[in-house]
Formats: sequence, C-alpha cells, structure tokens
Amino acid sequence: MGADRQLAPADAIERYFEQIAAASDRVELADLGKTTEGNRTVAAIVSSPENIRNLARIRAANQRLADPRTLPQDDARALAATHKAVVVIGASIHASEVGGTQAANELLHTLATTEDAGLLSVLQNVVVILIPSLNPDGHRLVVDWYQKQKGTPFEGGPMPWLYHKYAGHDLNRDAFMMNMAENRNLARFFYTQWHPQVFLTMHQMGSNGPRFFVPPNVDPIDANYDPLIWRTAALLGSAMALELQRDGRTGVVSNAMYDYYWPGYEDSAPLGHNVVCLLTEVATVRVASPMTIGAADLRGGQKGLSEYRPQINFPDPWPGGDWTLRQIVEYDLTAVRGLLNAVSAYREQIVQNFYDMGRRAVEAGRRGGPFAFLILPEQHDLIATAKLEELLIQGGVEVHRALEPFRADGEPYPAGTDIILMAQPFRAYVKTLLERQRYPGRRAGPGGSFERPYDVAGWTLPAQMGVEVLTIERSFEPPPMSRLQTAVVPAANVWGERRADYYLVDGRGNAAVTAVNRLVAAGAAPAWITAPVAAGGFRYAPGSIVVPTVKGIEPVVAGIASELGLRVDGMRGRAPANTRRVGGARVALYKPWIENIDEGWTRWLLEKHQFSFTSLSDAQIRAGSLRAQYDAIILPSASAERLMAGHLPEAVPAEYAGGLGQPGVDALRSFVQEGGTLVCLDQSCELAITALSLEIRDMAREAGDKFFCPGSIVRLELDTSNPLAYGMPERSAGFFSFSAAYRPFGGAQTVAIYGMKDLLVSGWIEGEEAIAGQSAVVEAKVGAGRVVLLGFRVQHRGQSHATFRLLFNALLTTPGLGKP
Ligand SMILES: [Zn+2]
Repeated sequence: MGADRQLAPADAIERYFEQIAAASDRVELADLGKTTEGNRTVAAIVSSPENIRNLARIRAANQRLADPRTLPQDDARALAATHKAVVVIGASIHASEVGGTQAANELLHTLATTEDAGLLSVLQNVVVILIPSLNPDGHRLVVDWYQKQKGTPFEGGPMPWLYHKYAGHDLNRDAFMMNMAENRNLARFFYTQWHPQVFLTMHQMGSNGPRFFVPPNVDPIDANYDPLIWRTAALLGSAMALELQRDGRTGVVSNAMYDYYWPGYEDSAPLGHNVVCLLTEVATVRVASPMTIGAADLRGGQKGLSEYRPQINFPDPWPGGDWTLRQIVEYDLTAVRGLLNAVSAYREQIVQNFYDMGRRAVEAGRRGGPFAFLILPEQHDLIATAKLEELLIQGGVEVHRALEPFRADGEPYPAGTDIILMAQPFRAYVKTLLERQRYPGRRAGPGGSFERPYDVAGWTLPAQMGVEVLTIERSFEPPPMSRLQTAVVPAANVWGERRADYYLVDGRGNAAVTAVNRLVAAGAAPAWITAPVAAGGFRYAPGSIVVPTVKGIEPVVAGIASELGLRVDGMRGRAPANTRRVGGARVALYKPWIENIDEGWTRWLLEKHQFSFTSLSDAQIRAGSLRAQYDAIILPSASAERLMAGHLPEAVPAEYAGGLGQPGVDALRSFVQEGGTLVCLDQSCELAITALSLEIRDMAREAGDKFFCPGSIVRLELDTSNPLAYGMPERSAGFFSFSAAYRPFGGAQTVAIYGMKDLLVSGWIEGEEAIAGQSAVVEAKVGAGRVVLLGFRVQHRGQSHATFRLLFNALLTTPGLGKP
C-alpha cells in the first residue's frame, strides 16, 4: 500500500475487507449505511477471536456504560475491570487525503494476521473498528480523476469538482447538522450502536511544514466538555508521537495549528458525547505522486509553530528530501500502533473515565444552569423546528414532549412543549449546540492581528435556524412526558370549501417555498398576496400564497398541508386582487471548475426545496445569450479574483482552465440589462458591484483591521413589506463570516440591515460599529433587470434556516416565462 502512483480503488477495498472478514476469526464486517450516492460505508470490527464471539455482549455493556443512569457506580467499576475499550479509526473524510484509506488495508491485514505478542495483547483489550473511508463517494471521484490524469502534465493536480456530490470539504463540517447521509450514518453508528471511547480520524495537511500532527490541539477549547477529554487526548497523542520518534520518524508536531472549538467536525461532534477525539494530519503529496521538498522550502508560520526549528512541541524537525505516499502510510501505521498500545495499557481507566464523564454530565444537569431547554409548539418555521429536534435526536439526545401543562422558572407552559432535560450523559453536546457562544477572541501578541478561529466562532442553532428555544436555569418538576423517537412537522388541515375556486396557503417559513415550487410543478399559477386576507378566522399575512384551482390540484394542496404543515383554506368566489405572481422562473446556478463548496450547498438546498434549475459552466456563461435561456442566475460565494481567473492553464486540462474572464462578466452584464435577475451570495457580490458599477460601498471592507467578524451570528432587521423578505419575521439573525455591510448611495433598495447595536448574537465581533445599521441585503435595478446582493451567508452550509428565504425569495420573485 502506498506505492508511488498506485491507489487501491473503493470497490477493491470493499472486496478486500470482505475477504479478510471471511477468512479471519478476528474480524467481522459492519456496514454504516448508504452514502449520498448510494455506495456502501464498510467498517471492519477487529479484536481477539473471543471478543469477536462476544461482540453483542461487549456492545450491550458499552451502551450501559454510556448512560450512567442505568448503571450504579459499583457495577460500573466491576465492568471497567474487564470491559474492552472501543476505538474507532476513520480515514480520509477529505477524499483527496488518500493516505489513511490506503493505510487502512495494511492495518487490517496486520491486525488480522499478526503473531506479535504485543499486538495480540492489544486485541484482547481493545475492539478496533476500522472505517477505511469516511467518504466513499469522494474516494471514487478522487481515484478516478487521478487515474485519468496519470502520466499527463496534470497528474496529481486539482480535480475540477467537489469530492462529495454536495458538501466537498464541508462533509467534515456537517457532523451536528447531519444534512448529509454520511453524517447521519456515523451518528447512528456512534450514538445508538457502539459508543466508542476513542475516535481517531486520519487527515493530511500541507507539504511544507511538519510531517505529522498529533494531539493535543491548540486553544481555544469549548469549556462544556469534560476536562478528562483533553487530558486523555494529550496522553494518547503523546503515545503516538513517542512511537513515531522510536521509529525514527521525524517532524512530528503537537500543540499546534488545529483547535477543537467548532463542534461540527466528524471528530469534534463526539466530544460532547464523552468520546476522546483525536486528529492526525500528515504532510501530503500530490495525491499518490511523490514530491521532493528542499530544506529551504520548509516553514512554520502556524499557531504553535511560528518558525520551523526545534522546540518543545516539535523536537525533531524533518530535514527535507523525498516525500512519498508510502511514507504517509508508514507514519499513519506507526501512529495507530502507538495509539492502540496506549489504549490497551490504559484500558481500564479509559473505560472508567467514559462512564465517569457521563455521570458527571448527568449530575451537572440535575443541578441546573441550565436545567432544561424548552421548544414551544408555536413556531414561525415548523420545518426548521422539526429539523432542529431531529438532529438532536439523531445525535443521541433525549427530547421529551410534555403531555400536560407545567410550570418552569415561575412561568406556565402548555402541553405539547418539547423538553430537553440537561440531566443526560450528552449534556455538553446539547449545551454547546443550543447556547450562545462567547468566543475567547484574542490577538496574536500585543498589537498583533486578531487570531482567526480554525473554523468559525459561533453556531448557536436556535439563532441560525430561527427556532425559539427557551433556557430554563433552575430545576422544576417535569410533567408527564413521552420521549420523541423522531421529530416530524405536525400536519395542518385544509379548511374551508371542498370545491374551492382558489386556495390560500400560509406563507411563513421555508416550507412555503417548497409549496410554491410544488404548485408550479403541478401546472398551477401561485401568487403571493401583498395585503392581509382573513379566512376561516385566520389572518393570512402578505406573502401568503393564493392559487386558483386547476385540474388535479387537490392532492397537491392536501400534501402541502399534511407534509409541510402549512394551513390551507379552500375559498369560493374571486381571488384577492392585491397579488404578485411567484415561481416558475428559469433558474441557473453557476458551477465554477474551481470546486466551490458554497455552490454544492446551494445546489443541495435548491433540490431540497424542489426548485428546478440548471448548472452553468464557465464556457456556457462566456458564450453569452443568457437572457434567452434563463430568468435568474445565482453566483455562489467566491472572491471576484477567483471567479474571474479560475484554474491556471498549467493546473488542469484545457476544458477546465480559466474562469468567467471578461467575456463572462460582459455576458452577465447583458443578462441583467436585458431583464434577468443576478443573485449574488456573500463574496461574489463584489464581482457584481464592480462589473455593473453599482453605487454601493462596503463598509466592512472600508473599516479595514478595525473590524473583525470571523464566522459569527449577528442581528438582522428585515423590511417585511419588501417581497424579498416575505415569509420572514421582522427580526432575525444572520451568519456573518468576513462578509459585507453595504451603504447604497444610488437608488438601490435595502431589504435587510444589521442591527443598530448589540449586534452579536453568538461568536466574536470586534468593531461592530463598522457594520451596525448598514445594509445586509440590497436589491439594485440595472437596465431592465436587477441584482440581489445577499451580503452575508444566507444559506451557510445548509444550516442557517432563518435566512434561506432571502435566497429563495430572490428566485421566486423573478418573473418567469410568459408573465408580466
Ligand atoms: Zn483533512
């Protein structure tokens, strides 16, 4: 494994794992579930033959250890004395980081065949679960592209699309949100089946620094997690570093580069489940093609390693030289050996700690601060509410529904309120997802620049998703409750006339967008009312849907009520006069050849809400005549420079080289002037402002280093009389990540502004006055068309449900074919 320019493909690896499982009494095969594109996710469970025979019993005992409420302390101690530690090793969620997947084959072979006394003793103490690829779809794409380019000038170069159908690199930023099947599978495997004590994920990093990273990570930490997590990670990380050093493998660094603050990584979401998570990173090659790295090319410049020279966390720098995939495989294998030896040696402590962390979490929850979170049945967006509850349940969290009214912190709450009691073993996970983050921001030295978080500074799900969640600090007597096994949108009814001339549909939330698209697909002509209408004792607000009856509409309308939870009234007579036609525009989404994660998420979101649309390549845009083909074009977030230039011609085959270029920009300008709608997401707004000479300043950019906001949630105020904000509440919150704050000085219309003061909802902001009260969303008329600038991340990773509608409304309000 790891021979130069050779990669084991996914199908062969699956066959190999099956063969070994069939041949060895130390190995059993497991399947985590289907990937996004329908592939398998295999895992090998490896242990001594005796443990493999007792696997069901070991698993059941592990489940009891995970929930201290079911296991008295004395029983836990007795169990820990003999119980096996469960370690999951997962490779290459970032599919271009191929080394871990290749190493997994050799690791499995070694564990299945070894006669080494040390390793045999490890297998008696430890159940190893080896997942050769956490991203089997991506593995296929990367291997396929590599093989096709092998022997050409583009061997080992960039692949011009994402290494996952939708999420690409962000597959490893979706662990709590679970928008992708891969993350739901892993959560089910972890939190309902195995409850591992230790989880190692194997990655690759840049080639010009250290050779290998082991834990501990760098600051900051999320103080919600039990401190034993960090101490054990340091112990096991040191064991890996020690083994590497004994093997003469130089260039190993710890306490550097990577922090574990963000809980959305595959290997940080389990921290709140009392799982010791470990990340390793090995210097990359060009996929499977070797490199030579000169001593002069090696550098530090990282958190914890400012210069490339010996220091306490980096005692033996690699001197430079040839670097190959085989070396990556060997570093990975040596590190795993160090890890397994240490887990075996500390087995009893690791098992006992796992139980104790859960016990302390339950005790902390009983004490309160907070005691519970409450989710009331009355919500603006029922789909977002159900999604929030569902991702908690899938994450192993207990959510209960009150069967009777009750009081908490002196206030009354109705039956049907959902209660998340904090006296549960995964308390830290719930708390970090639902509470406000106060990121411990700091500068790199006195007067230095602000230190960027490795990922983002705030994610508070109720704020991002527009779901009202109440925090109850003090303990209360819970009412009779039932535990939710799944969260679904409560069905609504179709009220009013059976044989209706037209229907009214509640227009709130993202469900109402799907409703419009379903009605259009059914051949109906939906519109939004622009003045309130009363029907059946209900007030339909502006933005509610009115749709005249067409043949076969009844089941569509019934589905909108029952599946999307939207109230519908069947009406007789003339439909309301004040309306605006919506839906049916011919939508296109620009898909650059520089793989763009924002494009992937946008594509996923549009599909999920049943938009029909086309993906547009650079060449199609450069060819022009866009207005004849499309009504709206979306530009995903990317800097103007990146959008313009694309890949350099020496990096990729000619058909994938270059970006929009001047011809593409000219074509987009003509598209708008001829009546099209250009929708720009976050960074791509910059291109439109320049290309169309919009009279708009970006105050965030002008503030320079006085302003800093790295991935945080900020207050928004919406002009809900503007159709672009229909279906949204007047106050909301948006995800701001080095985003924009506009001041139009021409005729552009402001749809949403950032709050006037106390902007920060969650995360970290410095110099908020730079953006306070400035425009977050702007609509500018250009020629016969318009540009909609969405200045922040309205659809961030498919998480920010609260602001999806700003994108959707821009599309729905674009006139389609044959409309006025
Ligand atoms: Zn990675």
